[in-house]
Order: sequence, then C-alpha cells, then structure tokens
Amino acid sequence: MAKGQKQQSAPNKDIHARISFLYQASTFLANQGPGGQGLSRFYVATAKGVARKAVLRVDRNVKRTLCKRCDTRLIPGVTSTTEIENLSRKNAEHADTLKTTCGQCGTVKRFPCVQRKEEGVEGEDQNVTEAEVQAAG
Ligand SMILES: [Zn+2]
Repeated sequence: MAKGQKQQSAPNKDIHARISFLYQASTFLANQGPGGQGLSRFYVATAKGVARKAVLRVDRNVKRTLCKRCDTRLIPGVTSTTEIENLSRKNAEHADTLKTTCGQCGTVKRFPCVQRKEEGVEGEDQNVTEAEVQAAG
C-alpha cells in the first residue's frame, strides 16, 4: 500500500457493530422468558439511542421487530402475536394486513401484505410494502 493511502472501510463500523450486538443480545434475552424482558428492553432502548446520536437510520426490517412504544423485541409467539386480518367488506385479497400485537403493552402494528401471483409459490412470499400503519392499542 502506497504512502498516504488509507484502507477503505465502512464509516461508523464500530457503531454498527455496537447496535448489532445490542440487537442480538436483546433477541437472546427476549427468548429467555419473562426474566430477560427487562434487560432486553433496556438493550433495545440503548441501541435506539446509539443510532439516534450517530444519526444512523435503523434498517426497516429491524425496526419492524421492535415495539415503538415500550421497546420490546417482538418475536412472534414469544413476545408478540401475529395474525393476518382483512377489514375490507368484500374480503379483497389485496386488503390483507399483517397485524402484530405487542405482548407487553398491546400496541398494534399493521403492514399490508402483498402476495406475488406466481405459480408454484403458495403463500410463502408475503412481501410487506413500505407503507406502515401504526395504531396504539
Ligand atoms: Zn410494546
């Protein structure tokens, strides 16, 4: 390497590593049962604070696994319940929404489910579009 050239690396690599660790630790603790819930929420709140201070955007797929209200790590069947609901009168297919309810505070998240109409794939692809509907329960 010539003099003056620095090795290219991702900016804020240490901050990304810290957020990733806190997220993984919160996931582990949330799976441990009620005893780990408090520390799990603390880790999520800390990770959010670190991201906010560094002005980093939390990935959409990560953000959707966190409760906005109480910082609970939302794990289906453990700390949250998920169901497909359809509030349209004619039960239209495009109106399916994925409803996630936080087990701690009852906050409801709803995401529209857009299913691809490809042959051979049966209901596996539930791509969630960018629109997010939040409703405090
Ligand atoms: Zn919650």
